[in-house]
Amino acid sequence: MIAISLKNYSISFQNTNILSDVSFDVKEGEIFTILGASGSGKSTILRSISSLENDYNGEINLGTCFLKENINSCATQNIGYIFQDYALFPHLNVQDNISFALKNKSKKEKENIVDKLLVQFDLIEHKYKQIHELSGGQQQRVSIARVIAYEPKILLLDEPFSNLDSLLRNKTRIWLKNLIKKLGLSAILVTHDKKEALSISDKIAIIQNKTIVQIGTPKELFFNPINKYVAQFLGAINELPKEILSDFDIQNSKNFEVIVRVNKTHITKEVNNFALKLIDISYCGDYYEISLQFMNYKDFSILVLVKNISNICINDTFYLNIKEKDLLFI
Ligand code: ADP
Ligand code: MG
Repeated sequence: MIAISLKNYSISFQNTNILSDVSFDVKEGEIFTILGASGSGKSTILRSISSLENDYNGEINLGTCFLKENINSCATQNIGYIFQDYALFPHLNVQDNISFALKNKSKKEKENIVDKLLVQFDLIEHKYKQIHELSGGQQQRVSIARVIAYEPKILLLDEPFSNLDSLLRNKTRIWLKNLIKKLGLSAILVTHDKKEALSISDKIAIIQNKTIVQIGTPKELFFNPINKYVAQFLGAINELPKEILSDFDIQNSKNFEVIVRVNKTHITKEVNNFALKLIDISYCGDYYEISLQFMNYKDFSILVLVKNISNICINDTFYLNIKEKDLLFI
């Protein structure tokens, strides 16, 4: 069953086209991620799905309900919207923030629902605290609890982790993924963070040049990117001279470019046709990133990650060492 679908969705603001011909389906129970640069229109898509933005062309359907003509009858109340800045009420305490949206419930029912969520979200000791007394991670959990309290079927998550530091971001991401799966929700996550997209999503859609250029599972996109932009978005790449193909007995073609992921690019001291000169060493904490230039193909240089540099000096000569299975053709 399809939970949300967009068909030929387009939108402009003040005659400036933001998105064109965007189509995708989100299946029930799926975490669908929209990955795109800042300003590419990700939030605008979520705002349209939740009927905050209605001046678009094309179709949005919630299940089988055509949203544009049935804003009041489509089950928009089934949508929970989680924002990057939490959007909590600063003058209400944690308990009251969560129970705020629970209309038509008795005081006792509200309290039961809130207490259950506070336990589930590891917030019970903060029940009576003011919002400003909580850390960023706790505030985000309150904002998610507030949405989960009214039992939505669909979650729209607009860069929900971007205000958290990286350790907390990882923890919250895993926690949220488990929560979505446990509750059987359908979710659209928008982000510009590739790690987030690759680790949490069932499907990823990539926005480039005002439209979605590729949709697939994280692995499909990672291993079969449709173009260089998609390849680069999901992980660092090196472009290689096409002459490399003769070494692998692969038919040369003018129509594609040859790339390899940086983490699959290695070097050796064993001589081959692809000599490289080391031109830079950058310290990156757990590893070093070294830059090398092809001696015979001066337009091409590559990045290689190495653990230690005890046998490496600027201007040293190395040779390219990659496996055929790691080549990507675009
Ligand atoms: P993203 O979430 O990918 O960063 P947005 O959807 O917020 O991008 O915005 C996409 C573009 O549309 C931006 O250039 C933004 O300035 C513009 N935009 C968004 N909403 C409006 C609006 N209500 N009026 C005018 N321009 C808008
Ligand atoms: Mg946005």
